Amino acid sequence: MIPISGSYRLANVRLHRSLTPGFAAPFDSDGFALADLVVTDGRITSIVAQAKSKPEDNAIDLAGRIVLPCFVDCHTHIDKGHIWPRKPNPDGTFMGALNATGADRTARWSAEDVARRMDFSLRSAYAHGTKALRTHLDSVPPQEEISWPVFEAMREKWRGRIELQAACLLGIEGVRDKAWFEQLAKRVAAAKGVLGVVTYMVPDLEELLDQVFAEAIKHGLDLDFHADETDDVAAVSLKKIAEASLWNGFEGNILVGHCCSLARQPDLEVLDTLDKVAKARLAVVSLPMCNLYLQDRRNNQTTPRWRGVTLLHEMKARGIKVAVASDNTRDPFYAYGDLDMLEVYRMATRILHFDHPVGDWPKAVAATPAEVMRLDGAGTLAAGGSADFIVFKGRSWTELLSRPESDRIVVREGMAIERQLPDYAELDELMVG
Ligand SMILES: [Zn+2]
Repeated sequence: MIPISGSYRLANVRLHRSLTPGFAAPFDSDGFALADLVVTDGRITSIVAQAKSKPEDNAIDLAGRIVLPCFVDCHTHIDKGHIWPRKPNPDGTFMGALNATGADRTARWSAEDVARRMDFSLRSAYAHGTKALRTHLDSVPPQEEISWPVFEAMREKWRGRIELQAACLLGIEGVRDKAWFEQLAKRVAAAKGVLGVVTYMVPDLEELLDQVFAEAIKHGLDLDFHADETDDVAAVSLKKIAEASLWNGFEGNILVGHCCSLARQPDLEVLDTLDKVAKARLAVVSLPMCNLYLQDRRNNQTTPRWRGVTLLHEMKARGIKVAVASDNTRDPFYAYGDLDMLEVYRMATRILHFDHPVGDWPKAVAATPAEVMRLDGAGTLAAGGSADFIVFKGRSWTELLSRPESDRIVVREGMAIERQLPDYAELDELMVG
């Protein structure tokens, strides 16, 4: 349906207001408008409201199908992905996940093992229409010496298809070994990565955060935290990160993931935290599928009573940048998932109520994570930009989000890609006990 090369006009495409900056059209109450989209040599050369465009004989009529920019997935763990068959989570709890993953990492994460699982994940993400992806990399010694070179090679291999970024991942107690952490920050900087830690309410949290910020400032690194992935109302490390950013005068980008406990805290505490998060210009990513899976899981004989996600509506209302992302896929932290950002958006719509009105929530899987990841022009559709978009069957939100859209067309630099999901059997030999 999409021509292989040259110039073509897609007529009657349905575009969303939140993802088409500069496109003036009579948008409907769902935020959609019909348009003609012209592609020349891999770039979008014009987007014109349908009523204003002249009928053209050679146009391809898309009959009102939704076209979205390619997705940006800003929080994943493709170094952990797909280990489930050999290392499941015994009880589905967070501690079960932590212990199982740690044991698997120590025993099995050779460069070859990590590389093959990463490549499998990236092929899925690419086929589903993702254009840029940030992964965390477990960087507990000696894993950092194995995984960072694999990441650098993988980024090279995927250049032009998926823009790959990485952030180091370790519990903040690891920062206490100052000399080692300085070395890690240097390694991350050499790989043009992002500095990341998991924050817990340890007694010396503020001091350790200062060290993290000092290293980020020294090397000019952006920051990426896992914070408060718990129902414990005493977990307020999101606020501590905002405070540390303010008193360190940090100027880089900061992304904070999870922040689950915030949803359980009293209103006054919440307001104070949100004030500080907005003032410090933190961005927050919610991981709705993982949170639904891990949070409020007790002994598996009780029914979960909360959804596990953080307060994205309240954050967005204050101008805080908010995103949703995949997080884990088929590992002890989440038994499912395939790095399909349409699935993430569909689940987020249901879990977080991204609807009635939809407003500008679609930015949370495209334009906003692109900004956080400093990817100029990604996550939007505009004249002059690269023709990277997805053509769906759905013509409305209810059509788009009710079916898996397995037959979506992914267009990269103007051409429809071959959408081949890798076969699970490829990984069988890595899963043998
Ligand atoms: Zn994560």
